[in-house]
Amino acid sequence: MSWAWNPWHGCHKISPGCAHCYVYRHDARYERDAADVRKNADFGLPVRRDRSGHFKIPPGELVYTCFTSDFFLEDADAWRKEAWDMIRMRDDLSFFLITKRIHRFAVNLPADWGEGYPHVSIATTVENQDRVDFRMPLYLVAPIRHKSIVCEPLLERIDLTPYLSDEIEHVTVGGESGNEARLCRYEWVLDIREQCRQRGIPFHFKQTGALFEKDGYTYRVPREHQHKQAQKAGINLP
Ligand code: SF4
Repeated sequence: MSWAWNPWHGCHKISPGCAHCYVYRHDARYERDAADVRKNADFGLPVRRDRSGHFKIPPGELVYTCFTSDFFLEDADAWRKEAWDMIRMRDDLSFFLITKRIHRFAVNLPADWGEGYPHVSIATTVENQDRVDFRMPLYLVAPIRHKSIVCEPLLERIDLTPYLSDEIEHVTVGGESGNEARLCRYEWVLDIREQCRQRGIPFHFKQTGALFEKDGYTYRVPREHQHKQAQKAGINLP
């Protein structure tokens, strides 16, 4: 089973991939400003216990961490140390984070981090070549035990080949969702797949996004079909 742990909520747009951020879209529906970053009531979830004294999140679970913000956000610098303390304490769980701020990875990193906690995976996202060439060199030298790349929302053809080292455990690709979604082309997806195939790196086509082009046709893909259509393509590499 997996859990969502969002210790803080809200974020600031930092790169083209953020233009139609789902956190902003979600908050707008409730007339909230996603730029107003705040600590969540669930901040202490990993160490919260039930009435019988057991951790609410049982051992062995996967915890999707900070998906309504960015774990390395400047506004959260003061909170991150405590968040790391909880992560360190729960080494019986697996934590998975995705960041667009790998350049801030070292800010308030725990003193005993070393080459990375074995139970923490940190993925970097890249949406265009400019962000690939900025983030990937920083990412490759960062001491992280489990690394993966998320190309989402994929906004153009990108070349990952200089950065597909053996330590990259998998690559995930997806288009953009929402009414204002930008186009994702199938040929870009296949291109990344081929780069992964040549390096023997697992590849996952997660979802088409809302505006998808294939074989010269552009499709508006309803939200409920975006994952299914990607699955149907049958192009994942184990
Ligand atoms: S970094 Fe992520 S959460 Fe923050 S604004 Fe960009 S897309 Fe949204």
